[in-house]
Amino acid sequence: MVEHLQSVSQVTLWLVAWRTLFLIIHILGVVCFAYIVAKRLVPLLRAERDLRFDQPWARLEKVLKFWLGQWKHPRYKTAGTLHILIFAGFILLAMRAFTVLIVGVSQNFVMPGLSGRAGDIYGVITDYAATVVFLCMVVAVVRRLVFKPARYEVPARFGKAHTADAVFLLGLIAILMLADSLFEAAKVAGQSRQGQPVEALAALSLPWILKIALLPVALATIGKVYAGAYLLHEVTFYFLLCYRPFGIQFHVETSLFNVYFAKLDREILKPVRWGVSDEHLDQVKSFGVKTFEDFTWKHMLDFYSCADCGRCSDNCPANAVGRPLSPRFITVKARDYAFRHYPVFGRGNNAHENNGTALVGSKDSGSIYSEDEIWSCTTCGACEEECPLLVEYIDKIVDLRRGLIDDGNVPQSLQKPLKALESRGNPYGKMEKKKADWANAKEFQQVCQVKTLNKSNGADTLYFVDSITSYDDRMQSIGRATAKILDHIGENFGILGAAEKDSGHEVRRFGEELLFTALRDHNVDAIKASGVKRIVTADPHAFNALKHDYKDVPEVEHISQVIAREVKSGNIKFNPVENGDKVYTYHDPCYLGRHNQVYDDPREVLDAIPGLKRVEMTRCKDRSFCCGGGGLMLFYEPKEEQRMGVKRVQMAAEAGANVIVTACPFCMVNIEDAIKVAGLEGKMTAIDLAELVDQEMVREEQKAV
Ligand code: SF4
Ligand code: SF4
Repeated sequence: MVEHLQSVSQVTLWLVAWRTLFLIIHILGVVCFAYIVAKRLVPLLRAERDLRFDQPWARLEKVLKFWLGQWKHPRYKTAGTLHILIFAGFILLAMRAFTVLIVGVSQNFVMPGLSGRAGDIYGVITDYAATVVFLCMVVAVVRRLVFKPARYEVPARFGKAHTADAVFLLGLIAILMLADSLFEAAKVAGQSRQGQPVEALAALSLPWILKIALLPVALATIGKVYAGAYLLHEVTFYFLLCYRPFGIQFHVETSLFNVYFAKLDREILKPVRWGVSDEHLDQVKSFGVKTFEDFTWKHMLDFYSCADCGRCSDNCPANAVGRPLSPRFITVKARDYAFRHYPVFGRGNNAHENNGTALVGSKDSGSIYSEDEIWSCTTCGACEEECPLLVEYIDKIVDLRRGLIDDGNVPQSLQKPLKALESRGNPYGKMEKKKADWANAKEFQQVCQVKTLNKSNGADTLYFVDSITSYDDRMQSIGRATAKILDHIGENFGILGAAEKDSGHEVRRFGEELLFTALRDHNVDAIKASGVKRIVTADPHAFNALKHDYKDVPEVEHISQVIAREVKSGNIKFNPVENGDKVYTYHDPCYLGRHNQVYDDPREVLDAIPGLKRVEMTRCKDRSFCCGGGGLMLFYEPKEEQRMGVKRVQMAAEAGANVIVTACPFCMVNIEDAIKVAGLEGKMTAIDLAELVDQEMVREEQKAV
């Protein structure tokens, strides 16, 4: 029987000094962890290059905001709050955990700076932290097992759920907190029983409750609990450390690095190969991602860092309408592939040994993605906007498409528009000389003259029209409205006419990089030759391409930005809207909103129209729901249960709107079509912002009256 509470480093059991035992556990734990992490790094070392070592301050800022500040977590209130509490608890408990580990081999160890009063305060704070983390684990387990949020479900086509793994790990963390609290409680209970000065425990915390439970117990038993709790803490700590790299909890170790190396310029697509300029693309032997090792090391780090929270898929429009794509599983399947082919124990079956398994193809041949899955993405960016760990998807999906295209796997429905883009510079195969027909219609010319720019006929501003607005009969109305607005505000502008080719925005996201560079180079030459000082477009896809994919062209604005500025300066005024029963809602086009953060300008314009009633859809601004038009989707026929546009129109109806305003010709095609499919013809209409402004603005002749 012990007469006093021994330090754990002094305990001896069956002639074994526990100090030695703990030292062995420390060494074993650290060596095992280092070995496992080294094995996990092997595929990253075999991966493609990725230049992510620039701008350390900007990267540090991201770490402070997204990792330490947990910026995106509150977007999901319950899960977000739980995660923030657990994360804060872990950060606070880090020093306490290390102190406890070292105490096992050095009984009087105190972390520098944590002796005396500071140590007491830190002790009280961490008592509460351990309690909160423990309670959060209990709540998280109950949520997973009882309430089962829908986004954690795994549809059979994507594989098996990782619920058991998640619950097991949550349970281990709960045990770690319990062991830590029991160790503290036994230490203080022992001090109390021996009449020594006792360390303060936070009132009502887990250690405090356990101490009260232990006080009546014999000192010898308290001593055993003390040593036992320590051993449990030590073993659980190292088991967790070494087990986490085998599953979704690996993000605890990798997330800091993943956020630090996250993409700084999200709008710019990744080059075909880092370090290979466009001029040398013809020397690249293989385009895109075909085997796992074709991913960049950062994309592999993404796979390790995903917490499997399901937020990306919860916001993915392709997933919502039953297409065979769920971004979460783009990651989960790749991570499982990495674990299978680069195992910690035993020999792996990787590309360097078996000439590579094609990642996209049939399951029987070992592929993990289907072609439909990869073509189903609209590149809307909702997944990336939502991910708390800044996992990237668009670059990976475009890289996988580049690989498919390089191997000649072009979906049937896209072959014709691609050929037309090659030969005619537009996906419809229309004659170049017809490009400016929309502006040359007689009735239109009577109200607005649009000049075609050439050497002898210059302008300050280029209106870049792009293919859909130039050639689609319905969308030409957006072109005319835009021209009338520019004319109204006194802009000296013109168009390129036949000299303008498709911006190539969709072509690039479809994976046809060489065709994109040809279109871009042609347009850049034409824009430079026109001598304009700035560019305006009403097409967010052209806007995004000109702003981010093109180099050395004048500054570009979307027409909604121009209108908002002119409204503020008083150059555009509106008549009151006459039809009082109309309720408007604004649909954010992905390439204007999420990809370029233009959310307020279109709303400010709408709110400046007297009498216009506007409601907001639940999914708006950075959570806007894609209409389904991005990435050449107008020409692709995906497998889906419902059209994205139909879902969007239903969202507008649920918000109480009967007029959907958008600011993108692609959205207009999909939404007008969806109104018919949803059976809402006559009850719901769609209008482009430029058309509405053109319709409602006060003209000179009206001002004179
Ligand atoms: S970009 Fe959009 S469609 Fe593509 S995976 Fe992400 S959320 Fe889904
Ligand atoms: S990619 Fe991000 S959002 Fe999607 S499941 Fe993983 S951690 Fe969650």
